Amino acid sequence: MSLLDAIAEQIRACDRCPLAQGRTQAVPGAGPPDARIMLVGEAPGYEEDAQGEPFVGKAGQVLTVLLRNAGLDRSEVFITNVCKCHPPENRDPQPDEVQACREFLDGQIACIRPTLICTLGRWALQTLVDPAASIMKLNGTVVEQHGLTFIPLIHPAAGLHNANMQEPIKEGFRRLGEILRERL
Ligand code: URA
Repeated sequence: MSLLDAIAEQIRACDRCPLAQGRTQAVPGAGPPDARIMLVGEAPGYEEDAQGEPFVGKAGQVLTVLLRNAGLDRSEVFITNVCKCHPPENRDPQPDEVQACREFLDGQIACIRPTLICTLGRWALQTLVDPAASIMKLNGTVVEQHGLTFIPLIHPAAGLHNANMQEPIKEGFRRLGEILRERL
């Protein structure tokens, strides 16, 4: 078994934080183990909890289209979340829950060694890049931090709740496409 698979097994069996009690199943992530690009969202939603796969609900459908517009097929990126278990009522993950999952996320990054990590939303940005970072300022820009290259993006679900966010979301992914064409 690969180290990445072993991490996924540990995630499925994890009971380090209270989210373990409320989940149907943990969602370790999905994608090629040697993906150039890794996407990190917040936490599984209702559909993801039911299916055990990341971004398979409404936000996931939007993400698939945004990726395609950036020139990427979903099958070529590794997709995971900061928290691997669904928080009840879709509430924000608590700092202790983020901390409990941190080792898994760091382990996945170390195994995959992606060229680029796209953070989706504030939680992933503030967990992986800088707790004080502003998603609106950094959307679609390149941020070098901790020896890794990040492109912070607004979470695709933000446009489902607030139509005003749809343009900035598209703009971030448009810039991602440009950066990929220039750099990779
Ligand atoms: N939102 C997330 O942040 N992650 C998912 O897997 C689904 C929705």
